[in-house]
Amino acid sequence: MLSEQPKMLTNLVRVVAIILCLAVLLPSVANAAKKPGGAARPVGGVVYPQFRSPFGVVRWVPEQMPLKVFITHGLTIMDWRNPEMPEMVNDFGGPVASMDGLAQWPKLVKEIVLNERFGKLRVADNYNEDMWRAAARGIGQWKAFEKEGLYKFELTENPEEANVFIFWTPHFTNKMGMGITQNDTKGCTSKDIFPYKVIQQVLSGQIPPERVDFKPVVVQLVTCERPFGPPIPPGKLVSASAHEFGHVLGIDGHSTNPVDLMCLNYGRGVISANDAATIRFLYRSRPDVVP
Ligand SMILES: [Zn+2]
Repeated sequence: MLSEQPKMLTNLVRVVAIILCLAVLLPSVANAAKKPGGAARPVGGVVYPQFRSPFGVVRWVPEQMPLKVFITHGLTIMDWRNPEMPEMVNDFGGPVASMDGLAQWPKLVKEIVLNERFGKLRVADNYNEDMWRAAARGIGQWKAFEKEGLYKFELTENPEEANVFIFWTPHFTNKMGMGITQNDTKGCTSKDIFPYKVIQQVLSGQIPPERVDFKPVVVQLVTCERPFGPPIPPGKLVSASAHEFGHVLGIDGHSTNPVDLMCLNYGRGVISANDAATIRFLYRSRPDVVP
């Protein structure tokens, strides 16, 4: 079905946004994340302008709700080199889902699901189910705003309906498959985005949805505290997954305020007053682009 798409339309409507998270977790972050009840709704924060992507305001629209989020039980795409899908094989023989291939992650996952290869994914080294629970807790912090009607999301285990996938990797690599050791990346998010005008045309029936090459948003979280290190403590994963889900929801860049979850080192590991003000502002703004 994909190959029948008019290429011109696809190329016209498709832009790619990528988000790179080179985060260094401070000890205070992990401690903050362990505090119970961390998902309180702070008030009176300041909107930080970095939420805006280079393509403008990016956020989901109500017609896409509830978003279906699939936190996989340890599945990894990092070693994907399946030659049965030649367009998805890295020219260097390394993994497609490397940091160098960040923009390709949504396409890779869409192809894996469409080609019924999902069941062939293996579990990442060092993964355990505490990590799944930590990721669910981190993502769950953003539930606080559902009551305000900003958005809705729920977990799914059906890859065919998922809008957002969480995968796992022991560490991130470059396109040659070599571990990236010079930073302390805990997670990374990649999404394709489309002009809001196109989405409106789809919603009004002017463009059939199958003519727009929608792809899932893909998050990868690490299972090791550092490359080739021990399993990551769950507290750190709570912060990392909460931060990445902020990117999933549309906060594109990083706050420069060190207390914010959406700053590069995850602030205190919980949604700050500024994060709260920003997500509210974002979901009251007209989108320019939509995942
Ligand atoms: Zn980030």
